[in-house]
Amino acid sequence: MINLKNADPTFKWEIAKQEGGKQILKCFGCSDCAASCPVRYFDERYNPRKIIRLTLLGMKDQVLSSPFLWFCAHCHACTEHCPQGIPVAELINAIKNYAVENGYCPEGYKIQVELLQKMGRLYEVEDFDLKKRQKIGLPPVDKTIPEVAKILEKTGILNKVGK
Ligand code: SF4
Ligand code: SF4
Repeated sequence: MINLKNADPTFKWEIAKQEGGKQILKCFGCSDCAASCPVRYFDERYNPRKIIRLTLLGMKDQVLSSPFLWFCAHCHACTEHCPQGIPVAELINAIKNYAVENGYCPEGYKIQVELLQKMGRLYEVEDFDLKKRQKIGLPPVDKTIPEVAKILEKTGILNKVGK
């Protein structure tokens, strides 16, 4: 049930100002994006059309606090199918970016930022992995990549996710 009493009419304009968000205003709700979405195929709780619709209606807290916003795999199938030429994948990204800017970053993403800051990777490279690489003739890789932490610092993401 949508209660428009809680709607924030400025929300769609805020998203339209974000990189990749401008074309949200062209959406006429046809649902082609949802029909072509492979994530929705496996989990019907995820629906890009619904996210866009709720954004247009101003349901800011409902959109930003939804765990489903983060289900998008950024595969661009929706972008290919949108009859309005809306870069839907970029639009979903714009909403995610706005969510992070406004303190709605999910815990799982914060942990990923922490790992990147610490190791420059999401997964630890262990001696076992290095031996396996050597065995199949691949060159060794560094266990940590300090440059990644510098990049994270420059982007300001650490402050945004409270790290
Ligand atoms: S396919 Fe495009 S116009 Fe149709 S609902 Fe999705 S974003 Fe809106
Ligand atoms: S980019 Fe996201 S919303 Fe679009 S089809 Fe792929 S998973 Fe679905």
